[in-house]
Amino acid sequence: MIQQIPVLRVCISCRKTYDRKDLLKITKDHKQGIMLQKGMGRSAYICKSKKCYSDSKIKKKLQKALKTFLEPEFIEVFEKEITSYNNYPH
Ligand SMILES: [Zn+2]
Repeated sequence: MIQQIPVLRVCISCRKTYDRKDLLKITKDHKQGIMLQKGMGRSAYICKSKKCYSDSKIKKKLQKALKTFLEPEFIEVFEKEITSYNNYPH
């Protein structure tokens, strides 16, 4: 049996380490700009806990991590996406 080694990443908000698949990935793609869960380039990860995504400084933290300006339109998409995860029971 092949053992799957989890890829660990740090949440930009709480700084805790999580399995890659439990995090939402935000990438500044070279060609397509800011993307969720896909794309190639500088990436930031955030865990799906309400405490982290509802942090008032999360937008600033994301912008700092990605070294880019985030459009309000993107923040809206991002918030919708991350709150949808919390509809699932853990
Ligand atoms: Zn977190």
